[in-house]
Amino acid sequence: MNGQNPVFIPGPTNIPDRLRHAMNVQTSDHRAPDFVNLLAPLIEDLKKIFKTRTGSVITFPSSGTGGWEAAITNTLSPGDKVLVARYGMFSHRWIDLCQRHNLDVEIIECEWGTGAPANLFGERLASDTSHNIKALLITHNETATGVRSDIAAVRQAMNKANHPALLYVDCVSSLASMDFRMDDWGVDLAVSGSQKGFMLATGMAIIGVSEKALAAGESATCPRCFFDFRDMGNANASGGFPYTPPFQLLMGLRESLDMLFEEGLENVFARHYRLAQGVRKAVEAWGMKLCARTPDLYSDTVSTIYTPDGFDSNILTNHAYDKYDVSFGIGLGEMNTKAFRIGHLGSLSDVMVLAGLSAIEMAMVDLSYPVKLGYGVAAAQEYYRNSDNLAQSKAA
Ligand SMILES: *Cc1c(COP(=O)(O)O)cnc(C)c1O
Repeated sequence: MNGQNPVFIPGPTNIPDRLRHAMNVQTSDHRAPDFVNLLAPLIEDLKKIFKTRTGSVITFPSSGTGGWEAAITNTLSPGDKVLVARYGMFSHRWIDLCQRHNLDVEIIECEWGTGAPANLFGERLASDTSHNIKALLITHNETATGVRSDIAAVRQAMNKANHPALLYVDCVSSLASMDFRMDDWGVDLAVSGSQKGFMLATGMAIIGVSEKALAAGESATCPRCFFDFRDMGNANASGGFPYTPPFQLLMGLRESLDMLFEEGLENVFARHYRLAQGVRKAVEAWGMKLCARTPDLYSDTVSTIYTPDGFDSNILTNHAYDKYDVSFGIGLGEMNTKAFRIGHLGSLSDVMVLAGLSAIEMAMVDLSYPVKLGYGVAAAQEYYRNSDNLAQSKAA
């Protein structure tokens, strides 16, 4: 391992030097009176990332999955009915988590490669005239299939059915890399984590919570302790944590937010679109297919790519790792052995993506894929060469 090659897994993502340095700090007293000077602006700035003015942001020391558990246990009671569509490994894991918390989970099965079925949700909610359904759970960016769902369309369907269910959105692999609008889309609980768009080490769950969701918490009876919004909210309000905060991660988060604001959120999104387009051009040149069915579903943070019939995608990703020391995402769940993933989110540039495409292309040729050296890379080069690099035009 040379330790210098970027990873092309869709999280955890590459940690830029600037953030690694920011996290490399000595222990500091979290009960000192000036801890609030670090914490309060972080919370305010995170609201800008979620695009919420009326909501709150709550963080926990945890990976993203803990954020899900917090969102569920703080707002629902055992036996509550929740509606969720399964279209990939992460939406599947929401289902599992809800079932283990004894919620009554109604599942809409969808083909992997499709997104959140706004129409079906709308029909189901319209038929739920007694409002038994308490929550709708959506994975904004299904990291297993490389599909981005249309949250605005889901919100429209909910409004049309005039249904009061809370809207929960997993934005772990989309926040701070693709557009996310908590207030505009009427999202009640938006769950994210530190190790993807924020480019940090794993270890913080970051959750946007609407006023309506906070109010629902007053009567929710799911047991919670470590993840209690009230304890965290009260402690944050007086400048601290109810337990030991992940100080080094908070220092990293300060720097991460500064980096995102310096580049400009909209430029961050444009960069991710551009990186993703280059990858998609390469996939097309290889004659391969994306798992995402239609262009409106294409994710700008991860591409899930079917290998040709008879080619095991695990052999490909293992070979790329063993011979070229580069990590790509394996196929998850139903996609295992059939597809591999190129993560293109976080701290990445055109040049880094070209290196990744070059490495996986070499691995494919080694394994006798029907692909010629340079084809995918050239297609991406051509795209990057001819399309405006916003980061550069901004610096100029
Ligand atoms: C990474 C990811 C998660 C969170 O996983 P953790 O490993 O618990 O941080 C959740 N949902 C999606 C869509 C993800 O990509």
